[in-house]
Amino acid sequence: MKVVIVGGVAGGASCAARLRRLDERAEILMVERGPYVSYANCGLPYHVGGAIEDESSLLVATEQMFRETFAIDCRTNCEVVGISAESKTVEIKNRLSGEITTEKYDKLLLSPGSAPIRPPLPGIDLPGIFSVRTVPDAKNIREWLDRDVDRSVPYPFTGPDTVSKPKKAVVIGGGFIGLEMVENLVHRGLEVTLIEKLNQVMPPLDTEMARLVERYLSKHGVRIALGDGVAGFRESKTGSLEVLTDSGKVHPADIVILAIGVRPETELAKMAGIEIGKLGGIRVDEHMRTSNPDILAVGDAVEVKNFVTGQWALIPLAGPANRQGRIAADVIAGRDSRFRGTQGTSICKLFDAAIAQTGVSEKQLIALGDTDYEKIYLYPNSHAGYYPGTKILPMKVLFRKSDGRVLGAQVLGEDGVPKRIDSFAMAIQMGCTIYDLEESELCYAPPFSSGKDPVNFAGMIAANILRGDMPVCHWDDTEDGFLLDVRNPPEVSVETVPGATNIPLPQLRSRLGELPRDREIMPFCRSAQRSYYATRILLQNGFKVRNISGSMLTRSHRAGD
Ligand code: FAD
Repeated sequence: MKVVIVGGVAGGASCAARLRRLDERAEILMVERGPYVSYANCGLPYHVGGAIEDESSLLVATEQMFRETFAIDCRTNCEVVGISAESKTVEIKNRLSGEITTEKYDKLLLSPGSAPIRPPLPGIDLPGIFSVRTVPDAKNIREWLDRDVDRSVPYPFTGPDTVSKPKKAVVIGGGFIGLEMVENLVHRGLEVTLIEKLNQVMPPLDTEMARLVERYLSKHGVRIALGDGVAGFRESKTGSLEVLTDSGKVHPADIVILAIGVRPETELAKMAGIEIGKLGGIRVDEHMRTSNPDILAVGDAVEVKNFVTGQWALIPLAGPANRQGRIAADVIAGRDSRFRGTQGTSICKLFDAAIAQTGVSEKQLIALGDTDYEKIYLYPNSHAGYYPGTKILPMKVLFRKSDGRVLGAQVLGEDGVPKRIDSFAMAIQMGCTIYDLEESELCYAPPFSSGKDPVNFAGMIAANILRGDMPVCHWDDTEDGFLLDVRNPPEVSVETVPGATNIPLPQLRSRLGELPRDREIMPFCRSAQRSYYATRILLQNGFKVRNISGSMLTRSHRAGD
């Protein structure tokens, strides 16, 4: 059996190595357009920033290793430029010599990845505007940042400041790659402006959670321009760049990073006549087979089923690409392996913090017209409060109202984020409910967690809601309620909520007579913990009550603010 693999990085290299482990006799040819196979594109922003100084450490495996260890015919600088599904052949162009050769295949795996979107805007090809996809991209960015900018050209300014390194960067796009580039450019001492067309950064997050990220970026000196698209680029009078936006603003820049998303590379798939989905990715079944049974496809180029919603989606992440590559190898070798779908589990480092999510967001549920869900906000300590270094972990958790199944989680903070998001990710994958989260036995010692881990807390709060022990509401539905502020007077003096009545929690039992019995009472405090206690007191005294989830902490980062 001869297997040709197009693309030698995440999905392609995983498939090639696994296939060799399963089948010593298969003839495997892996073709990679770029100069390297199996490089860590996820590490590129950190190479730009200098945390990963040595370029060679980004090369997880080499062409030689594939040849010697796996007996794989691995060809770099070679591009598959043609496919004939009828004759089961591919045409391969050697990018160094220009020579084109034809190879037959029994099975073909497409893992060509996705290409950064570069819209045809005026000035987009000016020097100094970069995308980040490959090792050479990162190298070019580093060289650009290391060069001396002669600011006397073309206008004859004089003085010692006329020559300097690039000082101002504009990053366009506030997704993962954009944010990672922002951080790394700040590390290199640049003044960074982030431009994002949407009204929030980090699109997979719900907007109110993204507000915390935006606040954090501002704290680190990053200028943010939300809700403004890029209209074009031009050279400035001093020879650097200017980024023009739809609103008419002009942002000066010595370097521009374009990170406005990626699109699946599907040219070869179209050439082979295989089905392309509505979202523009290659359609595959759970075995990673395309509409042609001899052609499989994996990675960023394919559409996947969202594990939670069952909808087709484009979710370009390294983990799914690697797992799909492995599954494709199994299937080629005759095994019955299946891909379960992608739940979008992801994490992004931002200065000292991490931003992570898994499963669905509320806006995805709203877009689907799904109303069978409830959400909670909580702000637990990342580990025992008495052990140094504890940080607040803002969390949003979504779950089914009807059966308690966990649907999604978003966790941000400066300590312990991955531990929590991975717990939620596993829970979602296993179809767990919030009652399972209540009971989960998670590791604990003071530097890492608390006797009740934040994930347990989430389960307990959500289970309290579903069991009717703590009816819940959110700031958006408080209009007709009686707002009851149970904080202490010093807290209230710092920030008040218009129309709220303040009865500090310790006085509540003795002042029940001041509360209406014909209206729904909506207690709140700082984080919704004391207002939960108030909710229990009021419920047991016959009042109609709903606790405001997240209370003042959630109010401080509402989407509209
Ligand atoms: P790739 O790994 O991109 O490999 C595709 C390869 O195919 C490319 O090298 C390309 O040159 C080659 N190719 C394309 N067409 C041809 C052809 N015709 N002939 C021969 N070769 C061809 N994901 C995460 O989960 N976490 C992260 O932290 C993360 N960070 C990232 C940071 C950056 C800067 C980038 C660019 C991506 C990041 N990703 C991250 C996404 C992750 O890298 C991708 O989801 C993953 O690499 C996709 O795997 P793939 O095999 O589909 O494509």
